[in-house]
Amino acid sequence: MKKWFLFAPGPTPVPPEASLAMAMPILHHRTSDFEAIFEEVREGLKYVFQTSKDVIVLASSGTGAMEAAVVNTLSPGDKAVVVRGGKFGERWAEICESYGIVTIPIDVEWGCAVDVDDVKKVLDKHPDAKALLWQASETSTGVKHPTKELAELCKERGILSIVDGITAIGVFDVRTEEWGIDVVVSGSQKAFMLPPGLAFITLSDRAWEATKKSKSPKYYFDLAKELKNQQKNQTAYTPAVSLIIGLRETLRMIKNEGLENVFKRHAILAEASREAMKAIGLELFSKVPSEAVTAVKVPEGIDGGKIPKILRENYGVIIAGGQSQLKGKIFRISHMGYVNKFDMLSVIGAIEGVLKELGYKFELGAAVKKAQEILWR
Ligand SMILES: *Cc1c(COP(=O)(O)O)cnc(C)c1O
Repeated sequence: MKKWFLFAPGPTPVPPEASLAMAMPILHHRTSDFEAIFEEVREGLKYVFQTSKDVIVLASSGTGAMEAAVVNTLSPGDKAVVVRGGKFGERWAEICESYGIVTIPIDVEWGCAVDVDDVKKVLDKHPDAKALLWQASETSTGVKHPTKELAELCKERGILSIVDGITAIGVFDVRTEEWGIDVVVSGSQKAFMLPPGLAFITLSDRAWEATKKSKSPKYYFDLAKELKNQQKNQTAYTPAVSLIIGLRETLRMIKNEGLENVFKRHAILAEASREAMKAIGLELFSKVPSEAVTAVKVPEGIDGGKIPKILRENYGVIIAGGQSQLKGKIFRISHMGYVNKFDMLSVIGAIEGVLKELGYKFELGAAVKKAQEILWR
């Protein structure tokens, strides 16, 4: 018998409440029934994004919202500074370059968070830069960048702060409005506990002003057009109706738990996961770990590619390996979204099992024990 356990940093597990809601017969979207659902969803998104501004819902993966952020606020020839410390930082740069935006990368060693002073220096050298783009949580390396400080810096300099919050929103505290962040994006298959297919984006007043000047080509991702529709609880094009119905359920769950408690849960699960790995002699990859995902170095002498492979094939446990240059060098455990204490004991126990199989020397049970001590502290 194979039972699946999903601990990948997207897609993440979907709660049965959402699955059942999504299994209902499809609704037509040009109806008052849909509008009532969408109205509730739009309010719920504002709560999770910690903003009073509209959060626009798009039918795309998270990258679509990243593209929307760029093409609506910047123009070809504009200069943008990009924090590039992993796969998703690279993606910001690639999107900007695709649209003729002059990209100034700040290359950060993978596993490290960007240094705010380094960003200051780059902005001093490029006073004409229009925007700074970064990841609140760089999922490929498990790193948390200093979002509050970077947002403040952008405000001081009068440039747009554009944040990929895809594995941050609903995981840890990102105060979109209070911190004055101009653009925040996220996606459904991470902390929103849904299948892939929805992307979210919210803009400050300053960012909406910038959209008026943006000359980048766009059609589906024209946010001004989308906003007009969404303020009437409609969408410009056919919405991903079923996912929006599922989203109503997961937003209710987040609201019921309370955002503060959601953050606390992620923090303790992340801590348990980190300390468990250290308890069996493993080293963490990230110097400033994100609460979304724990990146762990593969120990010397172990074939790193085999860890996720055996976990999946023999145990039905899905974790992620490393991407690009980190392939075979790290593995990543997600504790984002619909995850609780008992789930953590499963994945940690499974990792102990596979390490034992691969001949790594450690005391069986030590990681699970450490996790229990933290989870039931
Ligand atoms: C998952 C993820 C994305 C978006 O990826 P999609 O596959 O387009 O949904 C972007 N940034 C980060 C940090 C992510 O974790």
